[in-house]
Amino acid sequence: MPELPEVETVVRSLFPCLTGQKIADYQVIDAKVWRGGNLFFLDNLKGKLITKIWRRGKLALIQVASGEILIFHLKMTGRLIWVSKASPCPKHTRFILNFQEVEEELRFVDPRRFGFIACRRSKEVEKETAPELAGLGPDALTVSWEEFKKIFGQRTARLKSLLLDQRLIAGIGNIYADEILFRARLNPLLPANYLSEKEWQLLWQKIKETLQEAIKYRGTSIRDYRDGANQKGNFQDRLLVYGREQQACPVCGQKIARSRIGGRSTYFCPKCQKLLNQKKSRNK
Ligand SMILES: [Zn+2]
Repeated sequence: MPELPEVETVVRSLFPCLTGQKIADYQVIDAKVWRGGNLFFLDNLKGKLITKIWRRGKLALIQVASGEILIFHLKMTGRLIWVSKASPCPKHTRFILNFQEVEEELRFVDPRRFGFIACRRSKEVEKETAPELAGLGPDALTVSWEEFKKIFGQRTARLKSLLLDQRLIAGIGNIYADEILFRARLNPLLPANYLSEKEWQLLWQKIKETLQEAIKYRGTSIRDYRDGANQKGNFQDRLLVYGREQQACPVCGQKIARSRIGGRSTYFCPKCQKLLNQKKSRNK
């Protein structure tokens, strides 16, 4: 949490507020969130325009006309919110960006403090050599079928673990991995090399469909996640398996099961996502 659809929603909600704003000042309230780049880079931002904000994997990136890019990772509980300067500052506010001529400011609020901020030169971000971006796989929302097949085709690890590996594909976390696998009717424990070409294609399609639908419903707010206006998302009402242990499967009525894969809770329907049948069908 937050995963690709949540960060995309944050970025889209902040875009009209942030672009064209001139940075007046910044406040690093908690130095622990400062993860990367020279802290003096932040001084270069003063008086400069923000030209855009976008997303890569689970990262939010803010381009400043100084030639620097601010990188935010919300991790578990981070929020990036555009609020009135006059509104009370939440206790867990870690970083603030102030602007010229507006009544609002951008606050990075993070109770658990796993999130971080970095400031890098544009070139490092474009070439993806900045440590925050280095080694990231293609973005899950835009990965092409050819790329996808090349990355996953010959792997032997379990499907769930592969979907969570940001070096292979960027943006999917625990919630959407379970939702995608259920929608593709694939068991999370299935070794990747058991999949037929048709199943791979279905998985690729379900990745896109699920993430796009979650963006349409502005992300999943189970606990902490809020968009850039501090509003909850609505996709939690459309989750089919995640967090629904012992509840009826929306397709077959069987009880949703929960197991642990790689230390993460995994929800699936034992009937719709059978492990054995899929292995058999592969061997036909
Ligand atoms: Zn089912």
